[in-house]
Amino acid sequence: EHGIDFLLENRHLWLRSSRPHAMMRIRDTAIMAFRRFFHDEGFLLIDTPILTGSIGESAGTLFEVPYFDLGTAYLAQTGQLYLEAACAAYGRVYNFGPTFRAEKSKTRRHLTEFWMLEAEVAYADNEDNMRLQERMVSAVVAAVLAGHRDDLATLERDTAPLEKVTVPFDRLDYGEAVKVLQGKGSAIQWGDDLGGEDETILTKMHEKPVFVTNYPKKAKAFYMKENPANPDTVLCADLLAPEGYGEIIGGSQREDVLEKLLARIREEKLPEDTYGWYLDLRKFGSVPHSGYGIGLERTLAWICGVQHIRECIPFPRTISRIYP
Ligand code: ATP
Repeated sequence: EHGIDFLLENRHLWLRSSRPHAMMRIRDTAIMAFRRFFHDEGFLLIDTPILTGSIGESAGTLFEVPYFDLGTAYLAQTGQLYLEAACAAYGRVYNFGPTFRAEKSKTRRHLTEFWMLEAEVAYADNEDNMRLQERMVSAVVAAVLAGHRDDLATLERDTAPLEKVTVPFDRLDYGEAVKVLQGKGSAIQWGDDLGGEDETILTKMHEKPVFVTNYPKKAKAFYMKENPANPDTVLCADLLAPEGYGEIIGGSQREDVLEKLLARIREEKLPEDTYGWYLDLRKFGSVPHSGYGIGLERTLAWICGVQHIRECIPFPRTISRIYP
């Protein structure tokens, strides 16, 4: 009866009540299940840096930190590029840690600080990548179901949809997705990224999580590998969680050919000189490889059936909240 703002302002005390109790216990189990899954599959945990140089994705969404005589450092918004270096060294690797995005997204799916698990696998293509993801997600859902019936009841989560989360998940080509969405009245045009609304429409049509594959090149990051069957698209997949939850994983096969990667960096007018070490990975022993990132809180929001991602982290950071 206090209202959400009051509860957030008193999050340090609200943590004592039954909903946060249930949520934090499920969070703990989910983290353990992720780690056990990767350990059992023979992956090596590689902790990637949180303080980074300017390498990364879009500069507009990086938090800046003054860094001694070297100027500005940035809080990592992904460990992917470092994980690619580790993947070339060790084969199957993952990281799991806090991630920072200074994007001004005021939605129920965005935090400015969230936990992301990323995996990177050598000699794996986009298909292998999806198979790994569906095994991982179903293992985590199964672990939560096995240990937390009472907590899910406290959260008033209907567990029937979760019981259906078994491999294989559904797959939908991006081009098909656009046609389906247009048929449902969406303004999306071929070439656009899917909006939150579009994701909601698609996931309401599927009982299981669904992979949307092979997006247009122009909607995705420079490091994704061109699709040989249609060079306007890339070998990638986003995994959308059902019941309207939307994207929880972004993944792709990476461009492993030096010339192609360089051409993409130039096309996007990225600062080529800062990618020296990343380009080295393609100069010395480059192999086909694929990887992905999954957001912990988005995954929990779906598994627990909660409205807003901020319930899924002990002390949420959003663009309008840094207290307590
Ligand atoms: P979106 O388009 O939904 O903002 P994104 O395409 O930027 O997400 P990726 O860079 O592919 O996302 O990140 C991988 C995963 O990390 C996402 O699928 C999501 O689960 C999670 N994630 C990304 N941004 C956020 C955020 N601001 N808050 C919480 N989780 C996030």
